[in-house]
Amino acid sequence: MAPHTEQLTRPAVQLRSLTRSFDERVVLDGIDLDIPAGQFVALLGHSGSGKSTLLRAVAGLDHEVTGWGSPLLEQGRELGGGQLTAPDRVSVVFQDSRLLPWRRVLANVLLGLDGSQAEQKGRDALAEVGLRGRERAWPSELSGGEQQRAALARSLVREPELLLADEPFGALDALTRIKMHNLLRELWERHRPSVLLVTHDVDEAIVLADRVLVLDRGRIGLDLTIDRPHPRTYRDPLLGEYRERLLAALGVTEDH
Ligand code: ADP
Ligand code: MG
Repeated sequence: MAPHTEQLTRPAVQLRSLTRSFDERVVLDGIDLDIPAGQFVALLGHSGSGKSTLLRAVAGLDHEVTGWGSPLLEQGRELGGGQLTAPDRVSVVFQDSRLLPWRRVLANVLLGLDGSQAEQKGRDALAEVGLRGRERAWPSELSGGEQQRAALARSLVREPELLLADEPFGALDALTRIKMHNLLRELWERHRPSVLLVTHDVDEAIVLADRVLVLDRGRIGLDLTIDRPHPRTYRDPLLGEYRERLLAALGVTEDH
């Protein structure tokens, strides 16, 4: 066996007994989760179930859970009995684009990057998300969907091994949302980062992800592989079966 085989097969994300409480209230109750490199995972759950808390922990943004700094994450870290391992290069996309209003679009994408190749990479990333020609626009001149495209370009240009997205399309209208689904899936197919997409939308989860997790009472209540080819459409009757299982795990029934 080649010496680096273990390195190659090690999951991109590994959580063991990950726990997070706020004022004695347990939100994440000993989560165990492996995400293989390159897998597209969606995380579903009711509002307040702890989805963002889990994502922040994996992103290294939660000091209470993870400590701070990527070297810590890279090596894996004991956390009050729990453990978290995540890759070095992690990008996060939120529901709002978080573009700086006083910087033009390209400057936002390049924020914090340097090197002679940076500008070209930024331009390429903008072209990939369909924003060629908008490099010098101000964020306020972009539509909501375009702002999210710019946010995706900003994360792409960092060549993330792991893309974390917290309800990134939650504020978009239905048609824009479908276009963004197609774009995200295309970008994933080209770059193959691991993805953890937080959403409360069951259809969004099953149309995009190859594996859907349901967070319930601080645990992963259901871990479902969606074994259907892409591109997927809501009309696929087999997706309907997955939908029912996920809704049941969320405690929602469709009989009125
Ligand atoms: P979700 O993203 O699934 O809607 P969150 O992860 O944002 O849920 O929140 C889970 C629970 O943890 C909620 O009850 C929320 O009020 C609580 N919570 C999240 N962050 C904090 C915080 N910084 N301080 C106190 N409670 C928090
Ligand atoms: Mg949330």
